[in-house]
Amino acid sequence: MTLQLDELYQEIILDHYRNPRGAARLDHVPENRVHENPTCGDAVKLEVPLQADGTVGPVRFDGKGCAISTASASLMTAHISGKSVAEARADAERFITVMRGGEDADILDEWDDLACLKGVIRYPLRVKCATLAWHALLDALAEAAQGDDPNSE
Ligand code: ZN
Repeated sequence: MTLQLDELYQEIILDHYRNPRGAARLDHVPENRVHENPTCGDAVKLEVPLQADGTVGPVRFDGKGCAISTASASLMTAHISGKSVAEARADAERFITVMRGGEDADILDEWDDLACLKGVIRYPLRVKCATLAWHALLDALAEAAQGDDPNSE
């Protein structure tokens, strides 16, 4: 990775940190849905509405934490909204695998601004920051599939 690219990625992360997309107060989502990364102090909970046509509606997140966890949640909402449930689950699993070094990180070049998180892979402690919202997404999708959707009322 060139220095210039590194700087560009940093700017994207900071932009999403300062102006997170999909951020909202989700007081109706119970606290037991909060995902935490205690080593950094990150916390996030999600609202993942499923549409009648089987796609994921606009995903929103309520969280606090470092730039990487916030930027990753922000980028996740934009990436996942509108996808089918199966695609959303596959993408979340793939993102987590890539972040853990289990798959070539260049895949993220095809995921638009999510490529900015490639540099995080070099810092194992920060990987948990980057994957937090995606673990929360997998849980929310699993719960929704069981018909136990707290957002449906
Ligand atoms: Zn963090």
